[in-house]
Amino acid sequence: MSTIRGACGHDCPDTCSWMVDVRDGVAEKLYGDPDHPFTRGTLCAKVNHYLERVYHPDRVLHPLKRAGRKGEARFERVSWDEALADIATRWRAIVAESGAEAIVPHSSAGVQGIIQQASIDRRLLGSMGCSRLERSICGAVAAAGLKVTIGTGTGIDPEEIVHSRYVVLWGTNTIITNLHFWPLVREAQRRGARIVVVDPIRTRTAEAADWHIQIKPGSDAALALAMMHVIVRDDLVDRDYVGKYAVGYDALVERVQHYSPERVAATVGLPAGDIERFAREYATTQPSLLRPLIGLEHHRNGAMQFRTVGCLPVLTGAWKYRGGGLARSTHALQFAVLAMDRVEMPEVYTPGVRVLNMRDIGNDLCSRELQPPIRSLLVYGANPMISMPNQNRIREGLLREDLFTIVHDLFVTETARYADYVLPATSQIEHLDLSPAWGHLYLALNRPAIAPRGESLSNTEFFRRLAAALGRTEPYLFESDESMLRAALASGHPWLDGITYERLWEEGNARLNRPEGWMPFANGRYATRSGKAELYSEPQREAGLDPLPAAGDIPSGDGLQLITGKQLHYLNSGYNNQERHHRRAGRLFIELHADDARRRGVAEGDLVTVQNAYGQVRAVCRVSDRVRPGVAWMPFGGFLDADGMRRSVNALTPEEPTDWGGGSGLYSAFIEVVPVPFVATPSA
Ligand code: SF4
Repeated sequence: MSTIRGACGHDCPDTCSWMVDVRDGVAEKLYGDPDHPFTRGTLCAKVNHYLERVYHPDRVLHPLKRAGRKGEARFERVSWDEALADIATRWRAIVAESGAEAIVPHSSAGVQGIIQQASIDRRLLGSMGCSRLERSICGAVAAAGLKVTIGTGTGIDPEEIVHSRYVVLWGTNTIITNLHFWPLVREAQRRGARIVVVDPIRTRTAEAADWHIQIKPGSDAALALAMMHVIVRDDLVDRDYVGKYAVGYDALVERVQHYSPERVAATVGLPAGDIERFAREYATTQPSLLRPLIGLEHHRNGAMQFRTVGCLPVLTGAWKYRGGGLARSTHALQFAVLAMDRVEMPEVYTPGVRVLNMRDIGNDLCSRELQPPIRSLLVYGANPMISMPNQNRIREGLLREDLFTIVHDLFVTETARYADYVLPATSQIEHLDLSPAWGHLYLALNRPAIAPRGESLSNTEFFRRLAAALGRTEPYLFESDESMLRAALASGHPWLDGITYERLWEEGNARLNRPEGWMPFANGRYATRSGKAELYSEPQREAGLDPLPAAGDIPSGDGLQLITGKQLHYLNSGYNNQERHHRRAGRLFIELHADDARRRGVAEGDLVTVQNAYGQVRAVCRVSDRVRPGVAWMPFGGFLDADGMRRSVNALTPEEPTDWGGGSGLYSAFIEVVPVPFVATPSA
């Protein structure tokens, strides 16, 4: 028996370290590493059963070639040599006829590690001149918004929360989506912090907080403006801090005059008295910490929401205090210390190549205007049929007979059903990677615990073999995984001092050497153009955008505003094919307020049709006071609706671009709910 250290590679801020007990080449047990200071030996409900995923009978273990109609998911086994030779031949013909831009990658956070997510793939496809993908469905909008105000999408080390005395969890269901951060929130609470949750839904986190502020979706920036109105009016501004380290204060004062709590109350759906109280508590209790996450982002005004909320800790000078300011993703901190350019090698990319946004995959596949049209789609680490907006349009595109689709994955996913080739991918315990967390400052080395199952290949090895099949010989396309990881760690950044490949191999993880008591903006030094916090932004004005914080274009429409969220048993679209998780998640449901349910003639337990101009799904109605009137909530990630049909909540969501940052206003969807008589239908 040997025990191998590794780390979870899922799209999750926690990046848990784990141990795998292996006997005779078979993984017998996978469990949390008790020595990891942040994740402390626990995994989540999904990953506790990770080995069921590794050894699942439906796992793709050999290359498969389509043997039926598109979408039928009928395949025949072929060899890697045959598959790669055919792909190379098809791609050479496409490049000769239409140019390499006709080949489009679609990948995302299916494997979150620096080399399996983005290394040889970027080098090969970039050097070929294939279309580039703007991977901005999640996180990019928040970072782009926050950057306008403070020059970065990140903030303090989240572990510093224990020093906070006023914590605002804003648009984040921490208990479900950031499990290992919750004990630190509790610790802050034990030390006297007040925990406030701002969320349109009464989540489990909201229920556990000291105060739940149940805002209307998409009105977060309006609330922040009203708070700033109170802070300015009542002279709660840290004038010394603002005078030294911010620009545009006078213009901001002028702007917030128009956002008194009384005027904003109806917009945000809160009593003016609550807004007053929130603003005063926040401004007068230091250190105060904002934790704004995904909930603010997926609106058409998502970037402006972050830009505006980001002004609050500047006005109050919260950045001066240990545990004060704002804590968001640590992605930028981790990637700033690693030598990522050495891994991705942007210098070999063909310049001037078009960039397609991942949210537009459906429309781009169906487009008659796009030149060249997409002739081949290569999907890896992603399942766009489930995770991208406008599912029906994506299906229409994937059904194109003239589209050559390749999917590299562990399972025949919803996207893979439409593929010409499905190629077997390794699980996290079968490949090497370095996993920087976006929820804390630990780096983890994921060591392979078992050999790749069947003929599965890691992403890096797949792209090395594809490069060889294409006749490429440049050494940078064949660099080993270990060599790339060593190079990433050799950046010379002081936060990596002493963190070597050998040490990570032995110990599994290490915390970046951030200085004790590090407070990034205690003395200004913002990474903006002016070097100060930009309450007024000249670069925004130059870009034709509002230079001041604003409420933005708050979504409105007919019917109910649809908010979606993660559920306990699926990780994006992962685990939805596993019986244990599928059973626990149950049938697709929609939660409505009792008033909205009554008005539509539907009741608890009814099967209903949820519909809008994009599509429809069937769901079981839950009547709940967790949601505000006018708002509906559905979980995402599943691939069957309540009728057993292959459609999910993204049949209802738009690709509508966000204000800036390249995201999608997924929460700008409005739906109607109508009763349907119950008719049991088999799985489609
Ligand atoms: S999904 Fe998140 S919480 Fe679950 S094991 Fe992975 S990193 Fe930990």
